[in-house]
Amino acid sequence: MNKQKEMELLTKEIQNCKKCDLHQTRKNPVVGEGSLNAKVMFVGEAPGFNEDKQGKPFVGRAGKILDELLESVNLKREEVYIANILKCRPPNNRNPTQEEIKSCAPYLNRQIEIIRPKIICCLGNFATDFIMKKFGLKDKVQGISKIHGEKFNVSTLNGVIKIIPLYHPAVATYNSNMLGTLKKDFKKIKTNLNNLTK
Ligand code: URA
Repeated sequence: MNKQKEMELLTKEIQNCKKCDLHQTRKNPVVGEGSLNAKVMFVGEAPGFNEDKQGKPFVGRAGKILDELLESVNLKREEVYIANILKCRPPNNRNPTQEEIKSCAPYLNRQIEIIRPKIICCLGNFATDFIMKKFGLKDKVQGISKIHGEKFNVSTLNGVIKIIPLYHPAVATYNSNMLGTLKKDFKKIKTNLNNLTK
């Protein structure tokens, strides 16, 4: 099956998903968006108010920051893929529960299998924790203030994947110094991307 078909199937499954209670309060599930051939994949936490309303990832305030960060290194949304751990919005944007993460994780895992990114950028602590543990880096997990901007190489059956933890873009909405830190870390993404094709 080709990538397009696989993602269409997955999208239907997510739209019909009732595996956890979040389906009762969501307006729209947010599957993800971008190129199915993306080399860089961003993983966030969960949809917020605007994402739930529009069914698209990172379209609210954090999304504006993400757009600015992408633009700062000449990356287009269409050439990366953006997804979240949870596909449905937790009420009042509360943190995801471990049960919700457990029931929703297979969807993100399949997205990673379909897209086969070379670089996975984890936006914030939840995504960092999930992705690093998934790829056998449990011992290396630390708070995002300690490991943001670092790069962890993991060998998989599909080749090496570079994992880069980053602050969640939302932090820049309440702490303007963070935008500079995020911009520096985005330069590292770009350098790693450029090095892939050398
Ligand atoms: N925050 C996230 O983690 N994901 C979104 O899609 C929007 C805000």
